[in-house]
Amino acid sequence: MLAELRRVGYEIKDLRKDEFRADRGVPVSEMEEKGWSLWYASLPDIRHGKCKSCGSVISVAGVRFHGHKCEICGEVTYYDLVDGSTMKFVFLNNRERNFLSPKLKMRVKRWDVEQEDIYFYYEFLEGGLSVVTGNQATAYLNENKRLWQVIEEDGQKLLKVRYSLYWDRDTAAIEAYDSYGHYWNHSIVKIWDGKEYGELDHLPIPESMNIFETWHWSPLQATPYLHERILSAAGQVSDKGYYYQDGRSFFMASEWKEMAKFVRHFTVLNGDRFDDAWPKFRSSGPGGIDDLAHFCHGNPVVENRPNIGNILVAASKLIEGKPLTESEITEAVRGVESEEGVDLIRGFLGKKR
Ligand SMILES: [Zn+2]
Repeated sequence: MLAELRRVGYEIKDLRKDEFRADRGVPVSEMEEKGWSLWYASLPDIRHGKCKSCGSVISVAGVRFHGHKCEICGEVTYYDLVDGSTMKFVFLNNRERNFLSPKLKMRVKRWDVEQEDIYFYYEFLEGGLSVVTGNQATAYLNENKRLWQVIEEDGQKLLKVRYSLYWDRDTAAIEAYDSYGHYWNHSIVKIWDGKEYGELDHLPIPESMNIFETWHWSPLQATPYLHERILSAAGQVSDKGYYYQDGRSFFMASEWKEMAKFVRHFTVLNGDRFDDAWPKFRSSGPGGIDDLAHFCHGNPVVENRPNIGNILVAASKLIEGKPLTESEITEAVRGVESEEGVDLIRGFLGKKR
């Protein structure tokens, strides 16, 4: 099979020789029995850039880097920041920060990459919980006086800040959180077998695959933990605490269908019965996992670890004045009581353990 895959064009990595695993002393027999991937096959070099100015297929390397030029026609393929882009940032002032520390959101006038300066229009935009405006923004600027200048240009007030194309925490004045309004003059395409596909299109064959030797462990018996194996085979987390707790949909048909393939071929469960059952499973993370677990075993053991993410979701909903569901309250309280939760809250209060 590996020879066949190579013939088609796949590059194959022998994971049994992978240094990462050898270092930890995991023998190949253990990898086989635990159902780890033993080879990884992928199609090399299928991604390319495509210049919007000349239409040429170009190298994908650097194509999404500020000021990069098309190697065929010389036009710029991408600018990260142009006149009108917005950027959310903090000053790097060696003070401790958390996710509620002040940030500024400003509109970019221009970025002089040669002088390593960025110029913002002197106005403070709204941008969510931690983004400061008005007097708070002015106070934040004053706290960081040595890191910026205000200049006048064509009668316009601009904030000038040092900002290099090759950002380096040790020398930078600001750190960007996000930015919007990029200039795109390219697309990414995939080329396979002489045919061009969009960046997100599916090729007629998988771009990559993991290869297992299922005869070492299949068919899997119906144990209280079988659902964990099925979820992980479909790339899903089996801990209910990981998911949103407000009942919102998570599992879609595509995920259940992946799991159905695994159930049919590699477990003792009845594949036809599973195909009938999953459309009635709840689609929320915790509900779906419970339904799957009960399909697999009469008395399943389902993992539900407190998750500090649940505290943050609950806290931000409360701050925004949104109602919480019963299970969100339960999970947030469980999270607060966990070791990670205690650490998080100590962090907010500035107290070390
Ligand atoms: Zn071009």
